[in-house]
Amino acid sequence: MADSAELNERDARAERVTQAYAGNRLLLALSDEARAALKTGLSLTALARGQVLFDVGEDVRNTYLPCRPTMVALLVVTAEGREVEAATVGWEGALGGIVSGGLKPAYGRAVVQVPGPAFVVPTARLDEMRQRFPGMGDLFTRYADAMIAQMMQSVACNALHTIEQRCCRWLLSAHDRSGEDVVRLTQEALADMMGVQRTTVTAAAKVLQADGIIQTRRGRVEILDRRKLERRACECYGQVEAHFERLLPEIKD
Ligand SMILES: [Zn+2]
Repeated sequence: MADSAELNERDARAERVTQAYAGNRLLLALSDEARAALKTGLSLTALARGQVLFDVGEDVRNTYLPCRPTMVALLVVTAEGREVEAATVGWEGALGGIVSGGLKPAYGRAVVQVPGPAFVVPTARLDEMRQRFPGMGDLFTRYADAMIAQMMQSVACNALHTIEQRCCRWLLSAHDRSGEDVVRLTQEALADMMGVQRTTVTAAAKVLQADGIIQTRRGRVEILDRRKLERRACECYGQVEAHFERLLPEIKD
């Protein structure tokens, strides 16, 4: 009896670990061996809204792997301190020294836009694991390629698409990462990331709300009609998603 209880407890513990890893799709896509080896360096942390994970010029020491509903934005910061979003990262990915192995200065600023849990691992430890497990190295390199594609698309999006289209693109990304219809997001954060005045975002949100697509509340946006939201977004959202799926077919929703 004691043995069987012990086994059940061990199974339950293994199940809890798998469940926890399931919070991040990159971690879930690793082989069992790589996951087990990485476990010792990995810890779970709670990220607060506005928390800066690393800033311009700082050496990157930790890699973050967000879990639902967390979303982190990588921002380019201008000389006068204005910020514009270059990419967003959620439960499908990771940020901080993914390829370089860390201890290299960050080019941008990583800021938490939607608070929630994330795994954190010293970048040096992740680098060591990537050397030991080539499959893991390959996964992270392909993820980095997908991230570059996302940034390239953002260049086009920021230059060519309307505020409403960009708002819709951003809301679709946040909706995917949140796993629920309510996205914990302030209009200030959205305006900051898009590099526009808050009133501009408020005006776009009002139009979307009048059309029954979203409902904004204090610090929250509820997605009422996902299909309509997709139709109102620019092609950037679909392009980036499709490329991600081509590069990382093993990472499923
Ligand atoms: Zn666009």
